[in-house]
Amino acid sequence: MATGRIQNPSTAEDRAPNLFWLQCGACSGDSMSLLGVDDPDLGELVRDVGLEILWHPSVSRTTPGAFQEMVDLLVSGRKPLDVLIIEGAIIRGPGGTGMFDTFAGSPKKDLAVALARKAQFVVAVGTCAGFGGIPASGETEATGLQFHGRTRGGVLGNKFTARSGLPVINLPGCPAGPEIVGGALAALLRGEALPLNEHQMPLEWYGVLVHQGCTRNEYHEFRVEDQRFGQPGCLFYHLGCQGPMTYGSCNKLLWSGRTSRTRVGVPCVGCKDPDFPKPHPFFRTRNIEGGPVDLPVGVDRAHFLAYKTMAEAVAPERLKERKHPV
Ligand code: SF4
Repeated sequence: MATGRIQNPSTAEDRAPNLFWLQCGACSGDSMSLLGVDDPDLGELVRDVGLEILWHPSVSRTTPGAFQEMVDLLVSGRKPLDVLIIEGAIIRGPGGTGMFDTFAGSPKKDLAVALARKAQFVVAVGTCAGFGGIPASGETEATGLQFHGRTRGGVLGNKFTARSGLPVINLPGCPAGPEIVGGALAALLRGEALPLNEHQMPLEWYGVLVHQGCTRNEYHEFRVEDQRFGQPGCLFYHLGCQGPMTYGSCNKLLWSGRTSRTRVGVPCVGCKDPDFPKPHPFFRTRNIEGGPVDLPVGVDRAHFLAYKTMAEAVAPERLKERKHPV
């Protein structure tokens, strides 16, 4: 487990820390998620953290010439860069040139690497930036910043650290929750410790499974399972729910403070997992010998099947009749 403590936060200087948000192979979902944050809203968040946004593609305005000048200053080190956020996978195609995704005629992958080398902190927002995500399963030769799926490396390499000494901080999700992005920024800029798991994801938001806090847990315990959408039972046994195998606080830090996928009856698709998307259908559980192929983290197959058979036999009527609301 990696643990990060900031030794020389740039907030010690008499200027506001700055942020550059680079969009690479992305659908803009993480930006849209961040723009939708309402408590605090983005303006309040920026003021709370004391941040100067140098560039964000959705909220910044500048001429192409001024933008290029700023990039040159940052890349040359004449202007310090505190936080580099990258949204979207790093596109390396075709043939390793990166020319599928360019900025001012040059590959964005080169710009991402050049800026990362100058930044105090590098944050990968969304699963694509961290691990390659959906683009990495296509023809664009996409990868993540410091991982390709679960494999260390990515475009920056296993040994990369930002100027702070920290590796890339991965905040996966499709999209990443805005409170997580804001919380991570605040922790980094205040010099607070941000313990990470083996995939460089902060334990604060990725130390629990999506399953924890799901309102369908009682149905799961007694194996009261659903085979079609719109019922209140557990979605694990037939409908492909990845909640017990995926680290993420979706059922604790609710979307818009109100809801989650499983709360509205949609199985967790494991979007925060480094392997997302898995090469099999989202909404169908793969089964072997009457049990799911993929079991909850840390659970032994023989014990799981024996326990679930017994649990099903003693399931209370109120659950069998789907009377427990979710
Ligand atoms: S629906 Fe998914 S997250 Fe909810 S209890 Fe079932 S397996 Fe767990």
